Amino acid sequence: MDWKRRKQIANLVDGILQCNVLNRPPIDLISDIIKQRGIKFEERDENDEEFCGVYFVIGEAKIIFVNSNLYEPRKNFTIAHELGHHFLVHPLQDGAIICNKDTIFGDNKPEPEKEADYFAACFLMPKNMLHQKKTEFEKNYSQQLNLFKGSEEQDKNEELIKYLSNFFKVSKESMGYRLKEFKMY
Ligand SMILES: [Zn+2]
Repeated sequence: MDWKRRKQIANLVDGILQCNVLNRPPIDLISDIIKQRGIKFEERDENDEEFCGVYFVIGEAKIIFVNSNLYEPRKNFTIAHELGHHFLVHPLQDGAIICNKDTIFGDNKPEPEKEADYFAACFLMPKNMLHQKKTEFEKNYSQQLNLFKGSEEQDKNEELIKYLSNFFKVSKESMGYRLKEFKMY
């Protein structure tokens, strides 16, 4: 994925998120967006630990299933990832794109999987909201800092990631990647 494609995906997501006038964590918008797009969504209690989610189309019906057993940040990422396959109109194989842990979280992913991941990162952690929340954190943190003198930069970064990942309901790991992308930490 080159920078042009990344920019395209980021712009697409910005358009989708324009409805977020209340500055809610974007994951909270998912059910409305899914309804608007006429997608049927279901969490399924799957025994297969490797299975994360699937996007498939039967006739006119578009469907997303995610594994209900995933822990919340991972589940959220998977839902946004499947939505990425839908918005980016990725080619289906036998009517479906099946995403397991390896395709979403592993290395050497096929290009559409990387794109769906990037879509999910842009969707769940929009740049402008990250800046806003980071500023908010820094205000609070500098007040706290007077109480805990001698805090190191590393502690501050850890607290920042904790604060942001809690708000956006994503894993600390994906938050770390996203902040690095913008050189925000
Ligand atoms: Zn996928």
